[in-house]
Amino acid sequence: MTEQWDEDYDLVVLGTGAAGLSTALTATNEGLKVLLLEKGDLFGGTTCYSAGTCWVPGSRYVREAGIADDLAKAETYLDALVADRGPKDMWMAYLTEGPKMIDYFEGLGVRWIPFPAFVDYYPELEGSGRGYRALEPEPFEGKKLGRVDFSHLRGPVPEFALFGGQLMVRRKEVSKLLHLFDGQGLQRAEVATTAVPLGVRWLADLARRWPRGTRMVMGNALIANLYYQFKTRGGRMWLNAYTTELLTDGERVTGAVVEYQGLPRRVRARQGVVLAAGGFPASPELRNKYLRRPAAQYTRAADTCTGDTFSLAESVGGTVGPEDENGALWFPSSVGYRADGSIAVFPHIWDRAKPGMIAVNGAGKRFTDEARSYNHFVRAMYESHEAGVPTIPAWLVADHDHMMKYGLGMIYPASVGPLMQHWLDTGYLVKDATLRGLATKIGVDPAGLEETVRRYNVDARAGHDTEFGKGESEYSPQYGDPRHTPNVNLGPLEQAPYYAMAVHPTPLSTGRGLAINPTGQCVRDDGSAIEGLYACGSDAQQVFGVQYPGGGCQVGAGMIFGYIIGRHAARRGA
Ligand SMILES: Cc1cc2nc3c(=O)[nH]c(=O)nc-3n(C[C@H](O)[C@H](O)[C@H](O)COP(=O)(O)OP(=O)(O)OC[C@H]3O[C@@H](n4cnc5c(N)ncnc54)[C@H](O)[C@@H]3O)c2cc1C
Repeated sequence: MTEQWDEDYDLVVLGTGAAGLSTALTATNEGLKVLLLEKGDLFGGTTCYSAGTCWVPGSRYVREAGIADDLAKAETYLDALVADRGPKDMWMAYLTEGPKMIDYFEGLGVRWIPFPAFVDYYPELEGSGRGYRALEPEPFEGKKLGRVDFSHLRGPVPEFALFGGQLMVRRKEVSKLLHLFDGQGLQRAEVATTAVPLGVRWLADLARRWPRGTRMVMGNALIANLYYQFKTRGGRMWLNAYTTELLTDGERVTGAVVEYQGLPRRVRARQGVVLAAGGFPASPELRNKYLRRPAAQYTRAADTCTGDTFSLAESVGGTVGPEDENGALWFPSSVGYRADGSIAVFPHIWDRAKPGMIAVNGAGKRFTDEARSYNHFVRAMYESHEAGVPTIPAWLVADHDHMMKYGLGMIYPASVGPLMQHWLDTGYLVKDATLRGLATKIGVDPAGLEETVRRYNVDARAGHDTEFGKGESEYSPQYGDPRHTPNVNLGPLEQAPYYAMAVHPTPLSTGRGLAINPTGQCVRDDGSAIEGLYACGSDAQQVFGVQYPGGGCQVGAGMIFGYIIGRHAARRGA
């Protein structure tokens, strides 16, 4: 049948996060004519909110550092962690193609900086890594995008940058800036040498009428650079483009109907259509359908990631991957109102590991080692809740010393007066002179909380958490306070007043997704590939059986499978 096409492309990619852009850039570089589609008016998706960390064992950075880590070791780790939860051929594709992806993108101008001491999330398992697997995107000069594209790039999480999202800072810089609050006079010089150049550059950007700082880091840097390289090679992107239908020629996907600038357009996709629309973290319906109960009510993911592509894939025989108990990888997040009244969902990534804070359930009892990974923490919330003690939300409880030194959630260290009052007035933070009074205010068993803190304080002074071993996993000390002794994660709660903050389960990425094979092709229930249809990133079933091996495995999956798909589609074209 002769089709009438309005537009003619080799590959059409839905979604502009790490997964979509990795696919689009690879395919363009391999000689395909690519159309990148974004449903919203901003590109970059949840990846722009992320740290952009990418988990790739065995890359050139490991070799260059001369450390003993290789793919065989990573395979041992994943065998232990994933076991029969996820198909080995999928995560072996991740492992073997990961280092190749890094080399390939290096050649395209997309580079990384390894974290030399970032410990994997299950250091107790054989084969776990102690550094160089988690990679940070190299900072990017945002001015290269030009003013129009710059203004269409999704910004960072406002609370993860300075001045409400204006000035982005790297993790390393945050640690230095926090010396401002730790009373270490000598280290103040470090604060100045970090803050002054950042501030001067930001002010210069504002003077030249850029809407925010143009020095991009983390997820913003990754997306800006991927898009810049894609566009430089002739790639094309449509914003506000919504795909209503996949078109097939018998069994094979050959194009799509896309609503763009008010018109439905039949877009030909000679080598196929790629679904990379970021999963369903922002869809209340799909969260209720696929996630652990009680289903998450909030998310810090992009509000446009609503799982639209699932029904597109299902319309041509695609299927959602197997069920697992969680359906997502998790952040515990607090939810509060900013000064302008907008709602903010704040993922607690680091602050749980600082001394002087515990997490408790409705019985006022601790339920886990608070300093372990965010995914670990939320799973423990669910386990405690399912065991019959209300733990959703759970409560972070801290003393005054902790609040002044480290802050909590969206509250900066040393917040006093109106800065603190806003959070108390809006209910984000609860305060009381006694633990008993605090427990009553938050609906937690008062005697339980008092006894928990009494017992915890004895352990904290001795430097050994007899209940959950806080600070004893190799993972935990990296986010503790290095000056705190005898245990960098463990400090008593003894200085009134006391504070509490509710945390809720929120998907950092949904894990249920479209079933794919190791070349990224969507598959039917019987495992056969659907020609011309691919999925990757959070749109695809998580490759590690919805386990979380190490920081960066979601951006990693998007980057690696995007690279695999881009090359696969180009080979088919050839
Ligand atoms: C605060 C935060 C920090 C995180 N940090 C990390 C980290 O450092 N490392 C890590 O590995 N993971 C991290 N994650 C998770 C990670 O960011 C995501 O899993 C990952 O970025 C998803 O990438 P993606 O390309 O699949 O989707 P996204 O980056 O979400 O991009 C999907 C895009 O598709 C668009 N879209 C949606 N529907 C359609 C449609 N129908 N047509 C066209 N476009 C559509 C969306 O608007 C969006 O722009 C973090 C998550 C959060 C919330």
